[in-house]
Amino acid sequence: MDLTPDWAFDERDQAAMTAALDEAVAAGRAGDVPVGAVLLDAAGRELARAGNRREQDSDPTAHAELLALRAGAHAQGSWRLEGCTLYVTLEPCAMCAAACVQARLGCLVFAAPDPKAGYAGSLGNLLEDPRLNHRVAWRAGLLHDRAASLLVEFFAARRHDPGSLRTADTS
Ligand SMILES: [Zn+2]
Repeated sequence: MDLTPDWAFDERDQAAMTAALDEAVAAGRAGDVPVGAVLLDAAGRELARAGNRREQDSDPTAHAELLALRAGAHAQGSWRLEGCTLYVTLEPCAMCAAACVQARLGCLVFAAPDPKAGYAGSLGNLLEDPRLNHRVAWRAGLLHDRAASLLVEFFAARRHDPGSLRTADTS
């Protein structure tokens, strides 16, 4: 995926992705793959933030994006997240990209691409499939290096000591 187009990011974007990275670090320390997400409403107020909890909750669907979308919609009192922006440290999988479409999300910003599972440009792109009833605007590459190195360090530590999954320090 080409991460060098002229996508522009402002201070709000930087702050939100930094918060998402904090969630990713916390997820990694708890033994989950370090991915984090933050949802802002149209005015830039934070509706929700979440880290990946698949291991902690023994839930195959407990990805950071789904948890943030669910909590944000609940906080807002509506499942429609038009005008909202979701920041996530890793390109969403097919399930999460589809959830963004289901939520009528306004915009998605992700940090690192996921060439093995990403469905926001890598393996496919559910965010802008013209056959679906909603298109999600998206940008990528914000704080990409930090997000990617978190994942690399996490998997390196796990390979080094598979038994340390629950105590792996990804900071
Ligand atoms: Zn996902």
